[in-house]
Amino acid sequence: MSILNSFIKNDYKNPYILVCSSKAHMIYAKDILEKNNIFNELIPTPKGFGEICTTAIKFEKNNKEKIEELIKEKEIDYKGIYSLNKKYKYNLASILNMNISSDMKKIVSKVENNEDITKKDIVYLLKIKQEEEYKALIKMADIIRKECVGDRIELRAAIEFSNYCKKNCNYCGLRRDNKQFRYRMTEKEILKEVEKLYRIGIKTVILQSGEDFYYTTDMLLNIIKVIKEKYKMGITLSIGERRKEEYKLFSDAGVNNYLLKIETYSKRLFDYIHPDDDLDIRIQHTNWIKESGMRVGSGGMIGLPSQSVEEIADVILFQKDFGVHMIGFGPFLPAKGTPYENCKRSSLRLNLKVVAITRIICQNVFIPATTAIASLEKKGQTLALEAGANTIMLISTPKALREDYEIYSNKNMVDLDFAIESIIDSKRKLPKYLNYDYIESLGCKIGNNLK
Ligand code: SAH
Ligand code: SF4
Repeated sequence: MSILNSFIKNDYKNPYILVCSSKAHMIYAKDILEKNNIFNELIPTPKGFGEICTTAIKFEKNNKEKIEELIKEKEIDYKGIYSLNKKYKYNLASILNMNISSDMKKIVSKVENNEDITKKDIVYLLKIKQEEEYKALIKMADIIRKECVGDRIELRAAIEFSNYCKKNCNYCGLRRDNKQFRYRMTEKEILKEVEKLYRIGIKTVILQSGEDFYYTTDMLLNIIKVIKEKYKMGITLSIGERRKEEYKLFSDAGVNNYLLKIETYSKRLFDYIHPDDDLDIRIQHTNWIKESGMRVGSGGMIGLPSQSVEEIADVILFQKDFGVHMIGFGPFLPAKGTPYENCKRSSLRLNLKVVAITRIICQNVFIPATTAIASLEKKGQTLALEAGANTIMLISTPKALREDYEIYSNKNMVDLDFAIESIIDSKRKLPKYLNYDYIESLGCKIGNNLK
């Protein structure tokens, strides 16, 4: 039995959710339920019950009265308690009218009624060959994307502040055995880049690095403090596995999201690609991140050497079962100097199917059109936005260093120009919060219809 089963429960008889008024009340409520031994889980608030990217507490109906008492007694501020059996319904009539098989129609009907789709269904979707069924899959994801997250694309920016790494993941160009130039940015250098993003109007900065404990908790907390106080920006950390206490400290300091991908939910494959990592430990970390109050970013690589279609279905289902808020699936791309440098890169179509299936299953979540998909093929990012993705990450590492952050070879350094082109091509809208006058003064062309 996987460690996952101690955090989640798949056999709810009558699931309910509690939606609190703020993150602080949500964490407080969760704590109270734990103290009263009431089994509960944190999940992204499902479509129809609250805003995108907020967190709800899921529980079994037989605890409802007790929870209502506790809410009153402890003065928890909440928006409501809802039965999850009253599901949000989608209208997929246009897809049911397409020329698709009866098996495919059954899956579409399930999605329409918001019933759970099974691993077998996912494998079916991953194996689609017929063009009309592929179109149906993408269209279905696009309808759900539009209803859940709308047409505006969320733009975030990553500063890859260190390429030192103590781990030796077989697929990654930054693995410690890879002899290459290594760099570390200072606090001052990092904040200088944050300032540039602030001027553009970016609202969330992603601080990413290899697993580099040169950056102590205090150093990281200092950087977080300045970003929060001076720039009031959202922060995503993506710095690998840290200590349990640190997740809580990061969360309390205002870090909004923590990106730590599960990569794969197959123990066999996880062991094969990670000489110094363990799937259960990775799940444990993911749960610590969630319980600290930060939103969990997960996902993984598609098309890894020896990965089966069933294993891909499992890693997609993990995102739903665990209640992940931001799900980044990107193609495996070979990296020079690694054990997998001569392995085959993943295919675009498979990755687009994965994006679409993830949107169909997880719905009210953030799904990036990843840098990796843009590196696989230039059009990849646009096609991912059309297949259910709704966010783009800009590469905002200083120009002099970005070539040295080579997780995989031939990386597409997605900049504002490239992201804007992807958004135009996929007929989506740019976020409202960008400082367009300033961006245009930098030479970027923005169509008026996009703003
Ligand atoms: N060290 C941190 C963050 C940097 S790696 C961590 O491991 O979490 C960020 C992501 O890059 C990984 O989660 C992995 O999914 C992706 N990645 C690494 N090597 C890759 C490759 N060869 N092809 C595609 N994605 C890769
Ligand atoms: Fe290090 Fe992350 Fe690359 Fe693994 S994936 S080698 S932890 S940078």
